[in-house]
Amino acid sequence: MTRILLAAVVLPLLAAAADYDLLIRNARIVDGTGNAWYRADLAVKGGRIAAIGHLGDAGAARVIDAHERVVAPGFIDAHTHVEGNVERNPRADNFLLDGVTTVITGNCGSSELNLSAWFDKLEKVGLGINVASLVGHNSVRREVMGAANRLATPEEIRKMQSLIDRAMREGAVGFSTGLEYIPGTYSNTAEVVALAKAAAAHGGVYTSHMRDEGIREIAAITEAVNVGKEAGMPVEISHLKIDRRSVWGASEKSLELIEKFRREGVDVVADQYPYDRAATNLGIRLPSWALADGKIKERLADPATRQKIAGEMKKNLAEMGEPDYNFATVARFAPDTAYEGKSIPEISAMKGKPAGLDGQIETIFDLMEAGGASMTYRLMDEKDIERIMRYPFTAIASDGGVTAMGVGNPHPRSYGTNARVLGEYVRVRGVLGLEDAIRRMTSLPARTFGLKDRGLLREGMAADLVIFDPAQVEDKATYAKPHQFSRGFDFVAVNGQLVVDEGKLTAARSGRALRRR
Ligand SMILES: [Zn+2]
Repeated sequence: MTRILLAAVVLPLLAAAADYDLLIRNARIVDGTGNAWYRADLAVKGGRIAAIGHLGDAGAARVIDAHERVVAPGFIDAHTHVEGNVERNPRADNFLLDGVTTVITGNCGSSELNLSAWFDKLEKVGLGINVASLVGHNSVRREVMGAANRLATPEEIRKMQSLIDRAMREGAVGFSTGLEYIPGTYSNTAEVVALAKAAAAHGGVYTSHMRDEGIREIAAITEAVNVGKEAGMPVEISHLKIDRRSVWGASEKSLELIEKFRREGVDVVADQYPYDRAATNLGIRLPSWALADGKIKERLADPATRQKIAGEMKKNLAEMGEPDYNFATVARFAPDTAYEGKSIPEISAMKGKPAGLDGQIETIFDLMEAGGASMTYRLMDEKDIERIMRYPFTAIASDGGVTAMGVGNPHPRSYGTNARVLGEYVRVRGVLGLEDAIRRMTSLPARTFGLKDRGLLREGMAADLVIFDPAQVEDKATYAKPHQFSRGFDFVAVNGQLVVDEGKLTAARSGRALRRR
């Protein structure tokens, strides 16, 4: 009798203590749909959201009092480049402390090709974040054709298609292009369509760093949409922007065109990073023919060709509406780190080159002869940034990678994208509402990339979560001092485990490779 009574009293208590792995009380739930926040508790069990509501006296291994802070789905960064850097820093601290729990990588045409092996390797080292990948046009073209400046033969198309087919079978979420880059820039639309079809056959999405993001952007958007139409797949326009001073304001026309296509039944959306500088390589400043077959040094060694390259660069600069290369800053130059953080005119002066454009172009040639450099380019206008951000189907994405603390002078977007949107564009400027901003960081990219169990707070969804105070969250990374984590994402959970606890990174490595299913 005594034993039975004891069991009756003790067992329910034990059961209550073990109800959930994690219980968050007194939260404002921003569920990722864009709907208004509501008050509730949220419980996690076995890596999934087990319950949302008034959970009474339920017990859990860990209870967090949110004290009215926001609980939102972990952010899905629709556009990143983590190849080659996530292997070295697989916890991906800069992303976690900016609220990001999943990244889509393989963008701008550049990806891993053996995805299955790469995913296995990442899972073995232990990921902090979830990683999904596209398969990239430039990567498959380089594999099959090197950096040849010509159209692909039917045989080469077939080889590239089979690489894409394999990557899709190994879990890629779609096909990406980087049509301003070598060697994708040497392709025509027919080639891109033929290759996109290999990804469409598996239900992939087409993402494009377009051929042009300024003067010829309307033609570039039309090409991206036509690829999606002809291959039969949805389209995401990567890092939508107007990157030419001479056509600032043209985002109005670009968005009108995207909206027109949407009304006609084309599934096309965009992503954007909230900064006025782009970041890419130095080679993009040179005419693309000069970089073919990796023979830039040979071409610069020939005085007539060197002059021709310089001439085209001056013409391009005039078309951009830039008087000189003051907009261009070196981010990473391994042979001489003293140049990092300096503009091309500043480096020209350091090198003792003659003042003016000719000296600056000589400086660029010097850097190219030494193997090139990573750069940031101040090219965008805030009015365009805000207009593009207001468009309802623009997702927030960093275009960043996993950083190594203190190494180089990277674009601050790798550290601060989401905190910057929530701090600067939501709280300070009121460009977006809180719930709408969260939607663009969560359910919008989840929809586009087919992540069916992420991006929303719903029972049964993967427990990727962020907890923050919207009045406090802020980005700290700047162009001058990029290596600074965002503040305010107090708790971050990836697949149900806390990777950030009271603002501090934990030892948990609960990220996964997300293979398209
Ligand atoms: Zn890009």
